[in-house]
Amino acid sequence: MDRIKNYIDGKWVESKSGETFRSINPARRNEVVGVVVRSGREDVDQAVKAAQQAYESWRLTPAPRRGEILFKAAEILSRDKESLGRLETREMGKVLSEGLGDVQEAIDMGYYMAGEGRRFSGETVPSELPAKDMKSLRVPVGVFGLITPWNFPIAIPSWKVFPALICGNTAVLKPSSDTPVCATKFVEILVEAGLPKGVLNLVHGPGGEVGEYLASHPGVDAISFTGSFDTGKRLEGICGAIHRMIVTEMGGKNAIIVMDDANLDLAVEGAIWGGFGTTGQRCTAATRLVVHRKVYQKFIEKFRKRASRLKLGDGLQKETHVGPVINESQFNKILRYVEVGKKEGAKLILGGKACQKGNCAEGYFIEPTIFVNVSPEMRIAQEEIFGPVVSVIQTEDLEEAIRIVNRTPYGLSSAIYTQDVNSSAVAERDLETGIVYINASTIGAEIQLPFGGIKHSGYGRKEAGGRGGALDTYSRWKVIYRDFSGRLQKAQIDK
Ligand code: NAD
Repeated sequence: MDRIKNYIDGKWVESKSGETFRSINPARRNEVVGVVVRSGREDVDQAVKAAQQAYESWRLTPAPRRGEILFKAAEILSRDKESLGRLETREMGKVLSEGLGDVQEAIDMGYYMAGEGRRFSGETVPSELPAKDMKSLRVPVGVFGLITPWNFPIAIPSWKVFPALICGNTAVLKPSSDTPVCATKFVEILVEAGLPKGVLNLVHGPGGEVGEYLASHPGVDAISFTGSFDTGKRLEGICGAIHRMIVTEMGGKNAIIVMDDANLDLAVEGAIWGGFGTTGQRCTAATRLVVHRKVYQKFIEKFRKRASRLKLGDGLQKETHVGPVINESQFNKILRYVEVGKKEGAKLILGGKACQKGNCAEGYFIEPTIFVNVSPEMRIAQEEIFGPVVSVIQTEDLEEAIRIVNRTPYGLSSAIYTQDVNSSAVAERDLETGIVYINASTIGAEIQLPFGGIKHSGYGRKEAGGRGGALDTYSRWKVIYRDFSGRLQKAQIDK
């Protein structure tokens, strides 16, 4: 068991209060993964001060040099991938292959953003005047507060920390209190890679206290948040009132459309991994399946049969397909939603119960759950449950399916399974989500394109790579006009 400290101004330190909280393994409630310092306002004050002090020299460190540190961090992440993946499984519960995948995303992001250090370019454009030139430069924003959730406990911190640092910002990271050990190991790696003191600081503690104080702290210039809509909306309110830049990545109610010409086996696989991968705890999880009337029964039978073979258990065990849910409060919330679904008149054809026997006896396990005959306006089809609960909705045609997909407050990810190029083109055009998949599930984004949703999922395109991705979030434009007509006039006078 580790003792997990804050990292402030280049030192691992206790919190001022001396209080602690525990991070536990959701598959084995008795296993404590780390005892973690519980921070308060004074700790945040110190972390912000350290980030402010480090800013001057970090912003003047050439971007390629900053990139070298990120590259080294990616190398260390690769070296430690196996142990980090196992830690993720112990602390967050996802199966080991997914834990390793999460670390791989951080590795990819490290290399990608390291490269951005040599591509940190703006524009030069011609002026209307003969003795004038003009250009735009990317410059850092200042001190970033980074607030992250638990479901991708290394990847999401990396999605924020790497681009923030390559752009020349300094930062204070406030990770989820459900996965503080993973975040700490990630920071340790940046320290080993040679990050100067104060550039990245880490503060553990409850979101309502530490996160909210960080978001409103006068020494912070911008906030980047990933988490639930309710928290994000609250933080948008706080930042809006003090004219502070905030970017938010929030929840989803993502859907897969299965058309009558779809390859049903492929669609079932997509629905299985989209719905039950990471135990349904992905912002991009496929929680609604909108299935064409002509293949509805056949699809349901195949989907139910396939889902009933999924094995629950500790994600470190090879035979496990689906791990636990993160904590008691999520466990209770998901089971409450099952009751809501039953009351609303949806038909439960699989699961719907906690699993508390055998491999599951010690953890927060919920059986993969399928509701059919769901109508689009039911709460289980509108609200983010964030667990292994999938709603199947019947549709008449493509146009109706697209209307159903679009009719939720969220807009993160969607997918369509069809063999018809015209149907896929219409879906691509009309689905109101930040990401659309064709013949693939709603999950599996790659880092070299921008990532983000619209509506209650966020403002779109603020993370990862590509044009309009993370660099636009973590840098701002400065425009330079230079007039050298005085020099020309002098030359004429001299003549
Ligand atoms: P959450 O909103 O409860 O917490 C997210 C972070 O905010 C945590 O660090 C938490 O401590 C902090 N926090 C909580 N209350 C706060 C407050 N009042 N002020 C400041 N900070 C506060 O979310 P979660 O349960 O950790 O994560 C699950 C949610 O995250 C889901 O809704 C999921 O869809 C979303 N998510 C979105 C994306 C995306 O990219 N769109 C990715 C992953 C997860």
